[in-house]
Amino acid sequence: MRYGIKTEARRFSALMLSLVLIGIILELPLELFLLGLCAYLIWFVRKGVAIFRWVEGGMRGKPPFNNGAWIEVIRLLERLSKWQRRSKEKLRFTVKRVRRMTESLDQGMVILNGDLTLDWWNRAAESLLGLRRTDRGSSITNLVRHPDFIKYVSKARFKEPLRIPSGSEPDIWLEFLGSNVGKGEIVIVVSDVTEVDNLERMRKEFLGNVSHELRTPLTVIKGYVETLRDISDFSLATHKALDQIGLQTEKMEALADDLALLSKLESESPPQQLNPIKLKPLLDDIVNDAKRLSAGKHIIKLDCDSQLEFRANSNELRSAFSNIVFNAVHHNPEGASIDIHAAEDANFLSVSIRDDGIGIDLPKIPRITERFYRVDASRNSHSGGTGLGLAIVKHTLNRYNGSLIVSSRIGQGSEFLCKLPRR
Ligand code: ADP
Repeated sequence: MRYGIKTEARRFSALMLSLVLIGIILELPLELFLLGLCAYLIWFVRKGVAIFRWVEGGMRGKPPFNNGAWIEVIRLLERLSKWQRRSKEKLRFTVKRVRRMTESLDQGMVILNGDLTLDWWNRAAESLLGLRRTDRGSSITNLVRHPDFIKYVSKARFKEPLRIPSGSEPDIWLEFLGSNVGKGEIVIVVSDVTEVDNLERMRKEFLGNVSHELRTPLTVIKGYVETLRDISDFSLATHKALDQIGLQTEKMEALADDLALLSKLESESPPQQLNPIKLKPLLDDIVNDAKRLSAGKHIIKLDCDSQLEFRANSNELRSAFSNIVFNAVHHNPEGASIDIHAAEDANFLSVSIRDDGIGIDLPKIPRITERFYRVDASRNSHSGGTGLGLAIVKHTLNRYNGSLIVSSRIGQGSEFLCKLPRR
């Protein structure tokens, strides 16, 4: 018969009462009470020891008994054990799933211990890095020996991905992206970027070649237009058509020049060993050109200390600043003010070009440095711009680790702030 803690308490009370009554008859009530209590305690503790042994043995088989005060403890232990078994099962299932997923990835995945020794990797990492099962516990720097990679993992500051040629096949380029996970462990994702790199190189070469190849036919067309313009026999309509051809040819030339410049900025590495350029004369020149372009319609002012200098290629800087200043003239109406202000502090050289013109809609600001993006396509078709100006500015500043910060409000004007680190 099964019974629980209440029944046992009742039975215990009845037993003790009977013993006391018998004790009263035998004139030994206290002695019999103590004897009964001791016997009960010994029996109770023995049951506890049996449960302890059963738990220690992994709770295999049936519990040693299923009655009495200990039954609640046994039930609790059984519930805990069931819950633990289920959690283990779930965990095993999750681990299997994650493994299956990482095995099917094209990207390699490597987990490193804090001391850069290999802990785990997937199949793709095996083929990309040539890892073998026996490499577990070896330092990754003994297996991937490129100095840039050693520096990358040793510093363990993974802001940017790293691209290096594969150790075994130099034609293959690998990209590594690390991240720190808990307890000093590092996860590295490796991808084969050879194809992406080739496509990117082809795109840049194509742009460079197209813009170069366009120049000759455009120069020829321009030459013929000039010659034909001198012929007075043509009707007024023909002369108008020739003017249009001349204008459009000039636009195409500007576009080809900008494309060539962009592809050069993208494909050539940043210039090294540069001499400092005086900023004031460079900005003075740009302001004079802008005044000529504006034909007195805008108020253009410059504030620049004559001592300011910056180490850069002077043509690149000139093209970046003039693109912004000429934009301010092109895109703003008559009467608008354009203020150019250059300053420096311990860390940065800053050149700000501010206007109080039409302004740019806030959501469109992040897009204006995209190629061919125009805030208002119809408005800009008359401005004569190529749509590449600010893309050129962004690339140029990036080459010097600088940045372009644009702030603007519709109807109130815009500020284009070029920040160049002085180091
Ligand atoms: P675009 O050749 O059209 O000037 P950009 O890349 O230089 O091309 O500029 C992108 C767009 O940003 C321009 O088409 C124009 O709509 C907007 N923009 C640039 N500068 C200004 C400015 N100062 N005020 C208002 N809009 C501007």
